[in-house]
Amino acid sequence: MKIVESPHEAYAHADHWRREGLSIGLVPTMGALHAGHFSLVRRSTQECDVTAASIFVNPTQFSPEEDLSRYPRTLEDDLAGLRELGCGLVFVPQPQQVYPEGFSTYVSPPATAKPLEGRFRPDHFRGVTTVVIKLFQILPASIAYFGQKDFQQLAVIKKMVEDLNVPIRVVSCATIREEDGLALSSRNRYLSAEERERALCLSRALNQVHSLVSQGLSQVAQLEHEMHRILKPATDSIDYATIVDRETLDPMVEIDRPAVALIAAHVGKTRLIDNRLIGE
Ligand code: AMP
Repeated sequence: MKIVESPHEAYAHADHWRREGLSIGLVPTMGALHAGHFSLVRRSTQECDVTAASIFVNPTQFSPEEDLSRYPRTLEDDLAGLRELGCGLVFVPQPQQVYPEGFSTYVSPPATAKPLEGRFRPDHFRGVTTVVIKLFQILPASIAYFGQKDFQQLAVIKKMVEDLNVPIRVVSCATIREEDGLALSSRNRYLSAEERERALCLSRALNQVHSLVSQGLSQVAQLEHEMHRILKPATDSIDYATIVDRETLDPMVEIDRPAVALIAAHVGKTRLIDNRLIGE
């Protein structure tokens, strides 16, 4: 497995593979890898000739008051896990290699970046789309793999790829969960045992909405009320718990088309997100 810091070197490897007619799968991550990340890598190794992963805690997607400096970093374990899965290349740049002195060009993200996370983390998707388009240039893959766990991120990246004619297929991978329902996240390691227990309310609220819709309830206001009822006693604050159109992320009144229920809430100092597709 090649471990590469320099964007030029990473591109040279990818270019060489492409000239040899090999398909490249790309799995962008911020490290602190868990079974969710590894499921993306596994899918890539099954579908592509070569898999490249990136590990980069992208400073431009964090606001000044967020957890950039204390974001978990477990590079040795990450590399061991990737090697075991047959990853061909890991791109681990230093921040100044991605954003050298004088860097000043950013992507203006699509409309789907405005609601939800966009309301609470205003520049987040500008940073995400900018780093993703850079990774797509540095490692020009055939397919890029992203988790449904970050549903809005996936929607934003798909739209950017469509709007900017980026010649990469974006594939969505199912959310990997603990047995009790908690969606795997690098941030789960911040949770104390007591907070970990309370964090289960996110998946519980999403499951409840899913089962109410299966039973025929279709009024979004009622469903959102039910999510808040479950989340309120177990969380410290709720940023949103809502149901929106699965494509546009526009608000909905009734579940009359494919939708998605999304939650962002704080448990202790940790901000957790989760989602579930509704009305398939
Ligand atoms: P991150 O390191 O948090 O930026 O995540 C890197 C990629 O892994 C993103 O595409 C995430 O959506 C995906 N991912 C994170 N957690 C999970 C999970 N529990 N199941 C599946 N994919 C995930």
